[in-house]
Amino acid sequence: MDSEQIQEAADQVRTGQVIKLDRGFPLVRCLDDGLTLRCEHATDLVKEGKLRVVIGDLVEVLIPAEHDKGIIQDVLERRTQLVRKDPAERAVAQVMAANFDLVIVAQPISEVNLKRLERELVLAFETGAKVAVALTKADLVEDGSVVDEVRSQVEARAGATAPVLVMSAAQPETVEAVRALIPEGTVAVLVGKSGVGKSSMINLLVGREVQETGSVREGDGKGRHTTVSREIVPIPGGGFVVDMPGVRGVGVWEAEAGIGAAFADVEEAATRCRFRDCRHQSEPGCAVRAAVEEGLITQERLDSYLSLTTEVKTLRERKEEARRMQGTKASDERAGKRGGHKRVHRARKRR
Ligand code: GDP
Ligand code: ZN
Repeated sequence: MDSEQIQEAADQVRTGQVIKLDRGFPLVRCLDDGLTLRCEHATDLVKEGKLRVVIGDLVEVLIPAEHDKGIIQDVLERRTQLVRKDPAERAVAQVMAANFDLVIVAQPISEVNLKRLERELVLAFETGAKVAVALTKADLVEDGSVVDEVRSQVEARAGATAPVLVMSAAQPETVEAVRALIPEGTVAVLVGKSGVGKSSMINLLVGREVQETGSVREGDGKGRHTTVSREIVPIPGGGFVVDMPGVRGVGVWEAEAGIGAAFADVEEAATRCRFRDCRHQSEPGCAVRAAVEEGLITQERLDSYLSLTTEVKTLRERKEEARRMQGTKASDERAGKRGGHKRVHRARKRR
């Protein structure tokens, strides 16, 4: 358990990392001495940019003398961040985690959803961190040739840079390949729908029950979602792992780079289209359509690519529209007021 100590000296400002988010105040660990304490957001911070810290954020915390809670005054620039479209809003981004080195996309090999996988890969690549795919619950697939087939379908989508690992909680040694991807000093974020086996993987990595696993309801075989908190968990002999419980919505957000990485084959072909702004529909000299006709790219994959790029474009237009509407309040902004920009936070370079 994390100790929550009370600071007794005079006021201090220290740098820390948000290591746990649950229903209570964010838990922050100071980088210098490892002191952990619950913190609240400074009123200013919340008011200005509607900013809430996310797991992994590096923050500047004021620890007042005679106060049991720290005050988060500033959030440092995020080295990497996992961003999706806020499922509840029309054109708002939601940051899920910050300052990690690797994103592991988890799906059960027994029921891989390739459409969802494509989206998860786009979000993962967009972060700029390394990407890996963990295919879980291999024990549920008895036929080895099915495992090979699914694995190669997934590898084709993950591309050359993202390793694809097959694992099973029934064979604990299969988690070692995951551990090898998270060396000391690095942080991995685990994404995937609830029930795919993320908690089970973390428990294997850590060697004990740190995450409650969902119980399976009889009949439908679906895991029930149980975890609500987000926590950076240390792996013995390795780095850290963060579970992202219940990431259901995988709406993409400003993901051109992520789409480029997740659909490298399509974008590579597109460099050979006659028109630079080719939409790969019925334009003459379209190299992407040619690749589809030659069987190098499936029609399905091209459809995914086109719908994802359209989605990103539509969002951008909505966002610009929202910004234009706020243009009427531009005088406020010129007067030095903040607000309006969804990704605003008082980012300052890490010292
Ligand atoms: P999470 O919601 O992604 O954290 O998924 P959990 O780890 O809670 O797992 C959901 C359900 O799947 C639980 O009932 C687990 O016991 C089960 N499960 C997880 N990993 C495996 C596995 O490798 N094989 C099998 N057969 N079941 C698994
Ligand atoms: Zn084209």
